[in-house]
Amino acid sequence: MVYTDNCPVLNDIEWRDNCQFPVIRDGETPSNWKNQIWNQLVNYRNNNKLTDYNKRYLIARKMESTEGFSYRMAVKVNIAICYSCNQFVYVDKRVGYELYHNYKMEEHWRTNCTGNKNCDICFKEYMELKQKPEVESDIYTRLAIYRYELRIENLINRVKHIRETAKKIRAVKIIQQKWIEIMYKPDGLKAKELAEHYKLLWAVREEMRQRAGTLDFISLSFLKKSW
Ligand SMILES: [Zn+2]
Ligand SMILES: [Zn+2]
Repeated sequence: MVYTDNCPVLNDIEWRDNCQFPVIRDGETPSNWKNQIWNQLVNYRNNNKLTDYNKRYLIARKMESTEGFSYRMAVKVNIAICYSCNQFVYVDKRVGYELYHNYKMEEHWRTNCTGNKNCDICFKEYMELKQKPEVESDIYTRLAIYRYELRIENLINRVKHIRETAKKIRAVKIIQQKWIEIMYKPDGLKAKELAEHYKLLWAVREEMRQRAGTLDFISLSFLKKSW
């Protein structure tokens, strides 16, 4: 199989739409913009009608006047929509190196993207490709492998995190038990140790509260398989 980012053949209207998707209009919020283009964007995405640089994510643009030009130009801004999780991603436009790579998007895929649509390959294909010498693969295949590895890294971190959280939940239970013991046997622990346990308990609780929202379906199903 060939993994390609080559442009599909587009007609004039499709070209125009590809140019207009990224543009946040005057007075529009990012959410307005996303809602406005969403159905058509998904339609284009599903029918492979997006140009290569719009293919995996869409970096927003705004119309800006430039000195010496009578017309306004669509200049990139710091917001992108990730097609893998459909969420907004903050991208620093200065560190993007255009077309096939964008450092910030890769960082998002590596760390907090909850989707997996940025991968064009499945695990079986990945393993087969990895067994071949790298020089036999073209750039698109290598990038497909690379994106798959970003996804793996993301999942591994999520699993690690869930395990840590599970450990902390157990730790909380132990601390609670100790607390109860102490209530009944006041001489069981010294006051200083007690205070430390109590501090730890609060820190753990706070962290669990903050992270409760980060577990998603994919990491949970992945966890079931690997645990
Ligand atoms: Zn192209
Ligand atoms: Zn994403």
